[in-house]
Amino acid sequence: MRYWIMSKTDDLSKRVKERIIEKLPFRKDKINPDLVITIGGDGTFLRACHHYPNALFLGIHTGHLGFYANFNYKDIDKVIDFLIKGAYNISKIPLLSCEVTDNSFNKYYALNEITLVALPRTLIVDAYINENFLEEIRGTGVCISTPSGSTAYNKSIGGAIIDHSILSMQLVEIAGINSNSFSTLGSPLVLGADNEITLEAASLYKKLYLTVDNQCYELNNFKSLKCKIGETHIKVIKTENINFLDRVKRAFLK
Ligand code: NAP
Ligand code: MN
Repeated sequence: MRYWIMSKTDDLSKRVKERIIEKLPFRKDKINPDLVITIGGDGTFLRACHHYPNALFLGIHTGHLGFYANFNYKDIDKVIDFLIKGAYNISKIPLLSCEVTDNSFNKYYALNEITLVALPRTLIVDAYINENFLEEIRGTGVCISTPSGSTAYNKSIGGAIIDHSILSMQLVEIAGINSNSFSTLGSPLVLGADNEITLEAASLYKKLYLTVDNQCYELNNFKSLKCKIGETHIKVIKTENINFLDRVKRAFLK
């Protein structure tokens, strides 16, 4: 087993990192690790997944309990012990795949969400579900999130929190324009696996922005994008005894 650590640089995270390096008898490999341990928060985990999409992940939180970073740093010796013994279970977190056509063609994978925005202009796109026209969306932009991303940006813009065990994707307008002459669904839309969301430019955009988790890409002459959930996934080491609602409560309620 070859491993790598991606860590925040605060004192506590550094100490946890040193402890792992001291105690874990695996070889370090920055280029091609089998196992990636993140130390920090969900943001740290998100960055690591984009670096090493094929690795097995373990997220240790040194701040609050996260949705991805859900091992407590205080349990570090137990974690090292089960890593050495190989005594753990693996689960899969589905990714959102997104094919984008502008002047070129690219494919991206999001763990949390993708957003499409035209700022400072209004975004106007036609939304299709499985090639059936749904509606024209006008506003700041559109966010399409994964179940595990539903507690991130999606939640801030009025999307629903989705149980991670429901394989689905969620479409939410960002500051949608609704008036007497123009109206949309105006409500988050949650779709099951096997669906495809297509957004097509309803006007000419020299420049648009696509965000994929913590990355941002400039699109030139955007034509369309297509999103699907669950074509691929990342692998994570399962935590015992934290259920989804407990995490939601600990993250958002007192
Ligand atoms: P970041 O500071 O690493 O992340 C922003 C915040 O979102 C952090 O507090 C992070 O938690 C939290 N977070 C990330 N993924 C989450 C998840 N699945 N569930 C609950 N909380 C989550 O900033 P970044 O590196 O730019 O991260 C990009 C992410 O930030 C995007 O994927 C997007 O979801 C989120 N974002 C949110 C808003 C908003 O809510 N208005 C706006 C833009 C982007 P930790 O403190 O544990 O790291
Ligand atoms: Mn935080």
